[in-house]
Amino acid sequence: MEAALASARSGVQTILVTLSFDSVGRMSCNPAIGGMAKSHIVSEIDALGGEMGINADFTSIHAKTLNTRKGPAVQATRSQCDKIAYHVRLQRVIRSTPGLAVCEDEALGLDVRSGAVRGVILRRRGLVPCAAAVVCAGTFLRGRVFVGPQVVSSGRAGDRSADHLGQHILGLGHRVARLKTGTPPRLHRDSIDYARLGIQPPDAPPPVFSYRLRASGAVFHVEQAADGAGSDPSLFHVEQAGGPWLPWLPGTAQLPCYVTHTTDRTIDIIRRNLSRSALYGGMITGTGVRYCPSIEDKVVKFPEKTAHHVFIEPEGRGNVRVYPNGTSNSLPASVQVEMIRSIPGLEQARFIRPGYAIEYDFFDPRDLSHSLESKLSSGLFMAGQVNGTTGYEEAAGQGFVAGVNAARMALGLPPIAIGRQDAYLGVMIDDLVTRGTDEPYRMFTSRAEFRLLLRQDNAPYRLHELAKSIGILAPDVVSEIARSMEKISRETARLQSVFRAGASLYQILAGPGVGYRDLPGADLRLTDEEARQIETNVKYAGYVSIEAARVGRLARMEAVAVPRDLDYSAIRSLRKESAEKLARIRPETLAQAQRIPGVNPSDIALLEVFLRRSAR
Ligand SMILES: Cc1cc2nc3c(=O)[nH]c(=O)nc-3n(C[C@H](O)[C@H](O)[C@H](O)COP(=O)(O)OP(=O)(O)OC[C@H]3O[C@@H](n4cnc5c(N)ncnc54)[C@H](O)[C@@H]3O)c2cc1C
Repeated sequence: MEAALASARSGVQTILVTLSFDSVGRMSCNPAIGGMAKSHIVSEIDALGGEMGINADFTSIHAKTLNTRKGPAVQATRSQCDKIAYHVRLQRVIRSTPGLAVCEDEALGLDVRSGAVRGVILRRRGLVPCAAAVVCAGTFLRGRVFVGPQVVSSGRAGDRSADHLGQHILGLGHRVARLKTGTPPRLHRDSIDYARLGIQPPDAPPPVFSYRLRASGAVFHVEQAADGAGSDPSLFHVEQAGGPWLPWLPGTAQLPCYVTHTTDRTIDIIRRNLSRSALYGGMITGTGVRYCPSIEDKVVKFPEKTAHHVFIEPEGRGNVRVYPNGTSNSLPASVQVEMIRSIPGLEQARFIRPGYAIEYDFFDPRDLSHSLESKLSSGLFMAGQVNGTTGYEEAAGQGFVAGVNAARMALGLPPIAIGRQDAYLGVMIDDLVTRGTDEPYRMFTSRAEFRLLLRQDNAPYRLHELAKSIGILAPDVVSEIARSMEKISRETARLQSVFRAGASLYQILAGPGVGYRDLPGADLRLTDEEARQIETNVKYAGYVSIEAARVGRLARMEAVAVPRDLDYSAIRSLRKESAEKLARIRPETLAQAQRIPGVNPSDIALLEVFLRRSAR
């Protein structure tokens, strides 16, 4: 969706091809957006004009700030959404976006001539000409769903798989491999004994992802919810998913989540049935998500532990389905029932659907450039799970970048470049296209080397220039952010010039335990968000300047372009192994070359000398 919306919002006629429009925006697994590092990506998409953050805010039923005891760089927002409202709202946004048409059909392949995409071949409609195509086929390419020994060909529970497109892309020269992921069973909410569970309340007021929503201030005026008076009429009411768009204030009437744990009996049931699990019975060969393991994985890898957390999360206000987070598995359905009922509070649990594992094809992202365009066929862009990532946020971030770049290609504009120093989006794309991945890739704050610069809270400001050049973010929001930046910089300068008892207000604010609002003469017209920016910038200024110096060094290496057709064997003394690796990845800059695993500093020095000599 982000790809299609970004392309259409860039002013290019766009067609969203899907096997079923009804399933567009449907969350395959837990209806939760954000979490550690993922929420940074959501905020970046929002800052550039994408839809994910605002969609999660409008349909959230349980929002929390994570890591509140740690510094601002690693704090994150996580929002449990109403599963149905989430995709219904997104589908309405798609339907009402000018220049965006929807086509229910199967893409079988691409019309590629002289190394460039000229069209998409659809099963029913035949050839549809286009200037560029973005493939975001998720887990649908040769998707196989496993419930114990049962295997069905499927792209996701209830959806058929799409095998032709993957074979076609393979034929274009892209390298392919298999990965797997899984999902827990779904239980009926009325069959759970909540008295036996620990309760996890949401935050009040709830945090939101979207700058647009925070700037409107609507979310904090909860008292308006009763009659909707004064609220924004474009807000979406989750209870009205099937009806008109009625006013609703995000964050009102949130729901709690609950927590329980596995027992000795649970572990025993899983151990006894391991050979019947698709994962451990040898039926699945693809690599799974290391940091979101199946319950079988947890039992095998942590044999001494019996009490694993199980979070009981509602899938919506009017939805009877609950999601027992932590019990993803591929055991036979009857074993799943026995296993779930051994967990306190779930003794009488009624199943709506069993859990399952899915194995699917993904393409080696090292065959893509930083714009997410194929290095083998121009005009072919790829984004999301097909590039080896897992997660809604990772998919949305890549979709946004690929959609913008496909549109820019159609408009004859150069692609946008997002560096590791600019955004988590840049970190993710650089990791994928430089290092590739042999397990489902998900984002972590530890992947970013400039964490203090890339905070969730400063996304609208640090990406302001990029948002302007992309041109999707509404002009009034762009102006609002510019005004805020101006206020922040003016006030910071004032703090440096006003002194109290020999210290500047800036120095006083830098000290422990002092907040911006505690300062004499604090500007009460600043919003909470602006005041927080000043506070964080001042308190972390020392560390930020060290990171900024490293960014400067990186920028110098990023500025040295490496020709795509460079003959690495012509560089004297370059190790053969490095020459092969460089020729395989074909880095776009010296900085990217330096990040290729196995290419060492002396190789980079030789490459740099060679490039400088050739440039003379
Ligand atoms: C079982 C399961 C569990 C998961 N668990 C989680 C989780 O807990 N948390 C999390 O963040 N992520 C989870 N994920 C991953 C998450 O769902 C994906 O990473 C994300 O949705 C991928 O987005 P995407 O846009 O790449 O593909 P998808 O959202 O899968 O969308 C693919 C789209 O492509 C269409 N399509 C495919 N092939 C064709 C074709 N040939 N022609 C026309 N249309 C086609 C489909 O109709 C569909 O609309 C899970 C995924 C699955 C399947």
